[in-house]
Amino acid sequence: MPPDERTLENLLFNLLKSGALNLDEGTKAVLRAPCGVVSDRGLPDGMEPHEPNCRHFDPASPEYGDDEFIITQLPPATAAEASTVCMVSGRMARIIVNTPDIGTAVPRPTPSTYCIKEAPGKGLGMYATRDIRAGELIVAERPLLIVPVSMYARRPYPSTVTKEQGLQVMMADTEREYEVMLEKMAPANRAAYMALANSHRFDGSGPILGVIRTNGFGDECMVDSGLGLSNETGGFSIICNDMSRMNHDCAHNTTRYFDMPSFSMQARAIRDIKIGDEITTNYCHTLEPFATRHEILARYDVKCTCALCTNPSESDPLLAQCDIVHGRAPPNFEKRNRAWFTDFSVPNSTDVKPLLSDLVAHIKTGQEASGGYAFTLFELMKTYAARGDIKNTRAYARKYAVWQLATNGKVITDQQIESAFGMTAVAEVVLRLRGKTKAKMANRTVKASK
Ligand SMILES: [Zn+2]
Repeated sequence: MPPDERTLENLLFNLLKSGALNLDEGTKAVLRAPCGVVSDRGLPDGMEPHEPNCRHFDPASPEYGDDEFIITQLPPATAAEASTVCMVSGRMARIIVNTPDIGTAVPRPTPSTYCIKEAPGKGLGMYATRDIRAGELIVAERPLLIVPVSMYARRPYPSTVTKEQGLQVMMADTEREYEVMLEKMAPANRAAYMALANSHRFDGSGPILGVIRTNGFGDECMVDSGLGLSNETGGFSIICNDMSRMNHDCAHNTTRYFDMPSFSMQARAIRDIKIGDEITTNYCHTLEPFATRHEILARYDVKCTCALCTNPSESDPLLAQCDIVHGRAPPNFEKRNRAWFTDFSVPNSTDVKPLLSDLVAHIKTGQEASGGYAFTLFELMKTYAARGDIKNTRAYARKYAVWQLATNGKVITDQQIESAFGMTAVAEVVLRLRGKTKAKMANRTVKASK
């Protein structure tokens, strides 16, 4: 057994003992494959099938406990939209039910933006049926299913059960609970669910679990931190229909987030998309170098052939540059920043080149969704303000507003953009001071020449 697998096995055994198995391995991007290959699906000899013990509740019921996992339909049903069949902690259910305006209609772009069709070499894919502007909503969808990211033991195991068998039992029991959940779905939703891709057919996952592990999205607002676990392990996996058809691209052209009031997973364009373009998302963190991305993507049966993966010797250094921006400010950043704001007499000390270079690195590699890109836009806005350049200050405020809209649906008002979040006032002060300094210097020149 290779050392990696042995470590994995120990880890699994400890997790089994603690009753929780993290499927996520620390990413918010997508639910990751947990645990290598389990040789045989089903139960070891002598163990009876598990009788599902997760109770079904009306979400408004006061009966369930905070730490109890319940099966329920959320948000409370309305005539217009089907609810999502969920397995959530009682605490998470209450967070959802008590969200202001919960159950608002799911927004639908008009005219519609996409179709699902054959994607060469990738099965199905999502394609733009019209030009889509950066920031525009492309799709909003009530999920088919929401389940915990962590699997947990649903009954005590006899001491004779090996680690491998224990995992087998956990997977089989989980599958049985999910069967009960799928019975609660509308027939059309159930059929749609079972037609989704499954890249976990031969690793011990049942058919329902396999679809979850292939298609589940995580989102930071679907996390129950009260479970006493980290954000990742306290999280939930969200399985959608159309959005599951979005293929991965390391230079993906959309962002996605969960909108709690409409209880919908949404995707927006992070840059302009042309009619006929494939609409893509990310299955891994795309600032990682090529080798890391490929290792993660292999778990989804994805062999990415995007522009970055085709030429890693060129793309990896650019991604590393973007990653530095994302992780920390560039060298001497604060010092330079202070200089820009205090040394008004020398407005040209404001050097935009490093920031523009970071911006180009993001655009060249299609990383406009990253926080580093937003950081760079915001710093450019401040920098141009410090130079007294109102036109560029506003231009970057506008780009930053589009990023906010695209990444979380947050609308920045025209007034905020016009004032560049208060930065045009800074620019005006700089211009005034510069005018005074120039006048003083002119005065001195006149005196000296007398
Ligand atoms: Zn790629």
